Amino acid sequence: MPRQLSFEYVLTSAGLEHGRRLGLDTQGRIVSIDAISAARWDGALAIPGMPNAHSHAFQRALAGVRETPAADSFWSWREAMYRIANALDPDDLYVVALRAYADMLRAGFTSVGEFHYLHHARDGHPTVEMALAIRAAARDAGIRLTLLPVLYSQGGFNRPPTAAQRRFIHASLDDFGRLLEKLAGEPCGVAPHSLRAVPLEMLPRLVSLADDILGRNCPIHIHVSEQPQEVSDCRDLHGRPPIECLAQSVDLDGRWSLVHATHAEPQELDILIRHRPNLVLCPLTEAYLGDGVFPLEPYATRGGTFAIGSDSNVRIDAIEELRLAEYGQRLVHQRRGVLARADGLGMRLWSEAADSGARSLNQTVGALRIGALADLVVLNLDDPLFAGVAAGEALDAWIIGGSAAQIAAVYVGGERRVDHGEIALPAAANRFAAVMHSLHSQSSPGA
Ligand SMILES: [Zn+2]
Repeated sequence: MPRQLSFEYVLTSAGLEHGRRLGLDTQGRIVSIDAISAARWDGALAIPGMPNAHSHAFQRALAGVRETPAADSFWSWREAMYRIANALDPDDLYVVALRAYADMLRAGFTSVGEFHYLHHARDGHPTVEMALAIRAAARDAGIRLTLLPVLYSQGGFNRPPTAAQRRFIHASLDDFGRLLEKLAGEPCGVAPHSLRAVPLEMLPRLVSLADDILGRNCPIHIHVSEQPQEVSDCRDLHGRPPIECLAQSVDLDGRWSLVHATHAEPQELDILIRHRPNLVLCPLTEAYLGDGVFPLEPYATRGGTFAIGSDSNVRIDAIEELRLAEYGQRLVHQRRGVLARADGLGMRLWSEAADSGARSLNQTVGALRIGALADLVVLNLDDPLFAGVAAGEALDAWIIGGSAAQIAAVYVGGERRVDHGEIALPAAANRFAAVMHSLHSQSSPGA
């Protein structure tokens, strides 16, 4: 049945508007936006739901792992991550992903791009069960999913895979194509893992395989330039850094999303500005792993925008990702308001990241406008954080001092999924603690 939602303020494509009623069709799509003067509001301030453009849901199982001086690098973290990855079966993956997706919804993310590389069974046999577990978890949590099956074909630049990578590896593009055929029909893209894991010369063939099976506008995601070692290995092999290599090998247009790009060089920023692939930053994970800081100030000054991703899922909070993007730049440049404009910081960053995330995942979301799906986050303007703050400045207050605690409700396709932090989940969600206990006892070093 068609429905309506009324809010005291709505952040639409035209800016912040007072007193708006959204008319929705049976698919949860916005079909009208009308000015109204007084009503029983469904909430105070509605903003677009945030697409989470980069997630590895299973890594939610690594949140809270003990910090030690020996756990000091991306590469040592990767070993711990591999131990968890190799302990998961489809049922456990479902439970962990269900928890991750529920956390995302509560934190303002209404859709997710799942960069999924845990393909095979624990004994290495090909199966579609792991991908189907991800789809079931997203459906049961109520988050909108674009599945991004990952092609992982070698262990590192010209290096064979290790035993720990066995579940990720496809021996050939044909094998990978068979997986894609089983997943086509629901929102799906492809993700060459990185230039470490996929030979550069294989990329054009992967793109045509994706075109044939999934269609010519399916999204393509790749990790790039996350670690200095990866950049120098790429230079040693190809004579150029990763983003330059990509631009020479494929049409690096808006169907591509480059994840991290942390160590992008100045000439690679030129490529990002000129070709306009989507850039996906994951500030909390990049900080957690000690990756480094993407040169956001020169990129944004030239009009570059970015989507956000919760990546490792050790901490899931949409506004906190944006805060760290800005704060990282303040630390680097020793000044405030680096990404702000005359009309402020919060509205600009949230709107641009939501729009970029929607493009990155090829979903009709990310803006409250006619024709878009009604995925939205409602802020509680009665929260003490907003006391004395004008509605037009609420997102500035939120980005500087807020968190998911100020979210009153989250809607996906017009359906309320989160109500003051509460989300209804299937009974399997109650198995989360038991699954975590079992995973950590199986995956501790030496076990
Ligand atoms: Zn990642």
